[in-house]
Amino acid sequence: MIIQALTAADIRVAVLQARERGLRVAVRATGHGTFTEPDGALLIDTSAMTSVLVDPDRRTARVGPGATWGAVIAAAAPFGLAPVAGTSPTVGVTGFTLGGGHGWLSRRYGLAADNLLRADVVTADGDTLSARADRRSGLFWALRGAGGSFGVATALEFKLHHVPEVYGGSVRFPRALAGDVLSRFREYASELPEELNVSVVITPDAVALRGVHAGGADEALRALAPLLVAEPAHDTFRPMPYSGTVTIGGTRPRAFELLRDIPVDAVLATAETADAVEVKLWGGAITRGDGPAGHRDVPFSVTVDGDDVAALEPHVHGGAFLNFVQDPARTRDGYTAADYARLAELKRAYDPDNVFGTGHNIAPADAMVDLAA
Ligand SMILES: Cc1cc2nc3c(=O)[nH]c(=O)nc-3n(C[C@H](O)[C@H](O)[C@H](O)COP(=O)(O)OP(=O)(O)OC[C@H]3O[C@@H](n4cnc5c(N)ncnc54)[C@H](O)[C@@H]3O)c2cc1C
Repeated sequence: MIIQALTAADIRVAVLQARERGLRVAVRATGHGTFTEPDGALLIDTSAMTSVLVDPDRRTARVGPGATWGAVIAAAAPFGLAPVAGTSPTVGVTGFTLGGGHGWLSRRYGLAADNLLRADVVTADGDTLSARADRRSGLFWALRGAGGSFGVATALEFKLHHVPEVYGGSVRFPRALAGDVLSRFREYASELPEELNVSVVITPDAVALRGVHAGGADEALRALAPLLVAEPAHDTFRPMPYSGTVTIGGTRPRAFELLRDIPVDAVLATAETADAVEVKLWGGAITRGDGPAGHRDVPFSVTVDGDDVAALEPHVHGGAFLNFVQDPARTRDGYTAADYARLAELKRAYDPDNVFGTGHNIAPADAMVDLAA
């Protein structure tokens, strides 16, 4: 059963219908998520609820659950404002934010989830609640990383930042320099300013640095300089509006792992058989966020557009980031043990029957276990 929602009231009716029929509830905005909804659930399609309202004085945006980042970026740009968006303009704001949301501005302004100010949700009981830092703070904390496990968001409000222009693009070097570029990146990563987010991408014919600096060209060039191992073969870095960052590109996440360090040889071995391998930089403001999304202390990740990640396995952190988790069985890896335990407790309060039990699910804590504790 699929319900195409046009209003928050439609979403509420859909949840109540699902309860009456004993169905679980799944949500889809763009369908970009890594999980395919199971048969036998009621699917709420929010793709028509695309409203975007920007408040330039408060530097906030309020969006419907079907809004995409491209629409928010376009609406905020005339005011010199920008959201912490992802690498693709067609990804949905809601799925991205509830799953953490790592973007070009994250080292400067945190994850998308860290920028959430308010979420309106329909809960498993069909209640329409508003969660903020000072109101239903437990639910608000859970929503900043727990994906769709706690309810159906009918609207999100989040911070925008004054970023009228960035310096972004990519530089390419011959493929033979891949090891040098990775080693240099590993050496200087901890010294790079928070304004700079940069990744190393190895493809069969080149190695590239992709990046965005949320500042002026001079500062950006100074920040990038230590990473340039040779005169680049190709350089597209330039001042651009924030909307231009969506053209810089990303790597298809057929596999994704967090790393405490860059195992240069293992990354090179993985790149031998992959269409692309991208080592991303985390850290900066991400380490200061307080929601449950991800593992805040991890400095790197590796995204592989390929099948063979055996060489990387001995080096991975073991944790995950919900937005890149393919296998629902790895949902728990998306959180620290303490955060997962708190999420499971909150889940028992807000969705004890696991109505939102499809996809990357956080199951309610077991009451017996807690009583014993
Ligand atoms: C091309 C591409 C680039 C990407 N780049 C990045 C990136 O740079 N950084 C990053 O962090 N992630 C990135 N992702 C991952 C992306 O953030 C996740 O796939 C995200 O779940 C997509 O959300 P969506 O709403 O577009 O997708 P959907 O498939 O519509 O939704 C995905 C899931 O989000 C939840 N959800 C959606 N709407 C609601 C709602 N109203 N209420 C409650 N739960 C809801 C549900 O669990 C749903 O299954 C990328 C994905 C793609 C395809």
